[in-house]
Amino acid sequence: MLEDINRDVYVRIQTDLLVVGDSIMTDRHHASNGNYEDDDPQNQIGGIIPAFPLSGWLRHGMEEAVQEYDGTACHPGEANANFMKDGVYDRDLHAGYHEKGACTDDPKENDGCIVFDLFGGFGGIPGKVMRRPIKFNPVRSSVDYTRGQAEGHYRRLNRNVVSRNRDDNREPLRNAEIDAVANIDGCWHLSFREMKPEFIGLLAEGIDFLDAHKTDFMHQLGGARNFGAGIVDCELINPLYVERELKRVFDRGKENTNAMDEKDRQWIKEYRPAFVDALEERIAEGP
Ligand SMILES: [Zn+2]
Repeated sequence: MLEDINRDVYVRIQTDLLVVGDSIMTDRHHASNGNYEDDDPQNQIGGIIPAFPLSGWLRHGMEEAVQEYDGTACHPGEANANFMKDGVYDRDLHAGYHEKGACTDDPKENDGCIVFDLFGGFGGIPGKVMRRPIKFNPVRSSVDYTRGQAEGHYRRLNRNVVSRNRDDNREPLRNAEIDAVANIDGCWHLSFREMKPEFIGLLAEGIDFLDAHKTDFMHQLGGARNFGAGIVDCELINPLYVERELKRVFDRGKENTNAMDEKDRQWIKEYRPAFVDALEERIAEGP
């Protein structure tokens, strides 16, 4: 079954608003020809959402999925790191985590737990899933979904903290500029350096978990979560689809073909359960 799955898989990501601090890279300088104005609604700016917040978000969803099958997940931080909060690491170890890398004596010989296997850890061990950034563009026809791109509209938001003193007439005390991308709809491209059936099982379960918990503060993506940013509808796009079918998912004018419906049926009835069984077995074997 695994031979029917491409090493490149795609997660559909839809969100009204995403804020990832100052780490959205835009091409506004290039696009504006020197006439860029922050607040001009005509700006057609594309850019890149880096993989770091996406990766942490996915990893957290996968850790929860592992824990739901009574496994423990690799902690993302080194045990001897200087955490800002005392006792936080030990507390996590009692709440479904094991110490980072405790699951393998020699990562070159032994893959460790599934989270370590996917995300890697100590220097030189890259992990077997490569997480790419998402390139976004406001012009739908310019978006190449097969390259892990998205439609998205960049805006620079201004946040003012104003004086509460009546005499000051709401004079700003502080101003912060925030990069945001609105109305994102597109693909996140993940590539497996090595394929294992349990990897696909965990990806499917982790993405379902994140979709079901999208409004939980813990499982929103990026910053400004108190303001409703980062609530993500996500879905693993059927890995059995070929490129043409992947594109069709994003074509508002077209419905699924019969072949796509048949692949959906196969995915739900045969493939996915087999991959989730492999996940359960891997977790039952221990970290
Ligand atoms: Zn581990």
